[in-house]
Amino acid sequence: MSRIFFYPDNTRYVLFTEQALSHMYAHAQRRPWQKEAGGEVFSSEPDSSGLVIQTATGPNRGDYRRRCAWNPDIKASDRNRQIEFAHNRHVVGLWHTHPEIYPSPSARDQKTTWEYLDSFHGDRSCYLMVIIGNHGRVPNMGVWLASCQPSREWTHLCEATIACGKTNLHFKRVAQTGVGLQNGSCKLA
Ligand SMILES: [Zn+2]
Repeated sequence: MSRIFFYPDNTRYVLFTEQALSHMYAHAQRRPWQKEAGGEVFSSEPDSSGLVIQTATGPNRGDYRRRCAWNPDIKASDRNRQIEFAHNRHVVGLWHTHPEIYPSPSARDQKTTWEYLDSFHGDRSCYLMVIIGNHGRVPNMGVWLASCQPSREWTHLCEATIACGKTNLHFKRVAQTGVGLQNGSCKLA
């Protein structure tokens, strides 16, 4: 099932497809010996106000991985970006796992997100940080946004929760029209 996260203004949102979510869930740190994993997330329309995340890449063999740390192999990340770009998908953010039920970004995570955004030298106005928790069939997931227009802001996006059973249909309509979805409850980070 897709998941959707809204900006505080409730008009813009980020929708994660099942394909991208499944890729990230597969690396959730459900066991004590599992190390952090991560990579990047991609969208074919990076400037859309309704950002659809189609794919997630990583981890790669050369990544530095510990129980509470993850650093990507930059060369492998570049190769992943090129492969995704060949399919008209652009990098829009980072994802990684945390060994905690309710994931929240460390100061280092936040700094890293800014560094990635700054590396675009103004070609990108924002960059996502997605963190996957370690518990449950559908793990908790946090989404934050580093943005630099008009000013630098670090924003926690709020996951929409829908009470009816037509979630997928509803999400598809929102993805097409950008309207018609009410924001749901929001957990504090
Ligand atoms: Zn982290």
